[in-house]
Amino acid sequence: MPTGGSDPVREAARLLAERRNAVVLTGAGISVESGIPSFRGSQGMWAKYDPMEYATLHAFMQSPRKVWEMLSEMVSVCGGAAPNAAHASLAALEEMGVVRAVITQNVDGLHQAAGSRRVIEYHGSMEELICVHCWKRYLTRERWTPGAVPLCDCDEILKPNVVLFGEPIPWLAQEVAEEEARTCGVLMVIGTSAQVSPACDIPRLAKDAGAAVVEINPEPTSLTASVTDIHLRGSASGVLRLLLKELSLDDETPSSESSGH
Ligand code: NAD
Ligand code: ZN
Repeated sequence: MPTGGSDPVREAARLLAERRNAVVLTGAGISVESGIPSFRGSQGMWAKYDPMEYATLHAFMQSPRKVWEMLSEMVSVCGGAAPNAAHASLAALEEMGVVRAVITQNVDGLHQAAGSRRVIEYHGSMEELICVHCWKRYLTRERWTPGAVPLCDCDEILKPNVVLFGEPIPWLAQEVAEEEARTCGVLMVIGTSAQVSPACDIPRLAKDAGAAVVEINPEPTSLTASVTDIHLRGSASGVLRLLLKELSLDDETPSSESSGH
């Protein structure tokens, strides 16, 4: 879809206003401004912890205490973080009827904390722990203390209820996410490098079913040249603020049929 040299923010706002059934796919980038580092890049978690040693189900089953060195850092970083303006803007867009669902790869719970109601947690959540032996679940904040590994009542070491490499996507999340992607008018892809499969297939699925793909990211990604219709280059909070402003202006434009008082 050519943007024809027009302002890309205005063009994206026009699509969102016209179609009013946007779905959003978010990744680690949307939470960077909340102080949660993404995994890739020099400041990322993978610079410190090799994902094959620390983030696979196999690694957890073999050496859960070692994997908890990384997990503890994630629990404390996520637990201390608050939603930022980008999370708040998405909640506002849902409230306005522009966005109907957020599919997130993040495990930090910040979309819900900001007020988004329909959130599909594609990779699970750090807020819950699960026993790999008896499957009992616990709230992380009730079971985890810094410096210790959390234990189940059955004495097994608990695993956060997140998708580690080598684990399948929770079937309901995958089913609902695919349905949302296939039926939305606009898919906004925010703060993901789109390298983690199968989440990275969601934009293509939406596009093939007829959706416009709007990407918000300061950098180009593997999607930008092949799938993205409009790339809004910048931080999630900055670009969403501009989009909200543009959409509010649209709402304020008096229609020719409205009667004066
Ligand atoms: P990623 O680290 O691969 O990519 C992050 C992307 O965000 C990059 O493309 C980067 O250019 C962009 N970005 C950086 N700052 C941004 C900003 N201010 N606004 C918008 N975009 C910005 O992240 P990913 O693609 O989500 O893959 C990482 C995986 O690790 C995910 O599956 C996720 O589950 C997990 N993860 C989650 C969290 C979290 O819950 N907050 C944090 C780190 C990783
Ligand atoms: Zn147990």
